[in-house]
Amino acid sequence: MNKVICIDGPAGSGKSTTARAVSEKLGVLFVDSGALYRIMTWQALEAGVDTSDAAAVAAFCKGVKVDFVVKGNRVAYELNGEEPGDRIRTPQINAHVSPVSAVPEVRAIVTKWLRNMPALGDIVVEGRDIGSVVYPDSPHRFYLDCDPDERARRRRKEDAGKGFVQTEAEVKASLLARDKIDSSRATAPLKVPEGAIRIDTTRLTVDEVVAEIAKAIA
Ligand code: C5P
Repeated sequence: MNKVICIDGPAGSGKSTTARAVSEKLGVLFVDSGALYRIMTWQALEAGVDTSDAAAVAAFCKGVKVDFVVKGNRVAYELNGEEPGDRIRTPQINAHVSPVSAVPEVRAIVTKWLRNMPALGDIVVEGRDIGSVVYPDSPHRFYLDCDPDERARRRRKEDAGKGFVQTEAEVKASLLARDKIDSSRATAPLKVPEGAIRIDTTRLTVDEVVAEIAKAIA
């Protein structure tokens, strides 16, 4: 089986930036699991599904078709031949993605997709339940943590680059609201996977975090 590097952590902990850098440094494919939950949420909202109605979300998401295409060193997601891009990164999607991803049927679909990814090559996957549920047997599991104020600072800057103007307080409230739902849901809650290496990224640069991960894998 191909190598699977798992990077979990709360919103804004640096998972995505770190996983992309790990993918470049180690020559493995980058897999963004959160984007799959965002795609489900985006499609449900476009179809007018009430995201607080778990049964309706479950029934709708069964029909969502995503193609997985290797582009450079990442696995891209296409719907009808097109990538969603920043349409899945809006404050509206941020507000609805946690209830959608708490629906067990949605998690089952995304987990199945993620478990098929190693067929494409060695991968680094970032998410919330990768080391705890999707790949609990991988020897390469990491959990990134970070102070909430620093997470809000990073995420606000990132979102501003996408044209979403919000205050740091708004971003922090959104991150903490998602953390709360993500950590308390019944199915695959966000938690430090047993046996995972925990890294506090608050005062570390991306290079330092990547170096720590690369050293642990070597
Ligand atoms: O990582 P990102 O912020 O894009 O994830 C969006 C949301 O998707 C999270 O807040 C969480 O609700 C959900 N998610 C999840 N399990 C994962 C990845 C993301 O439940 N493995």
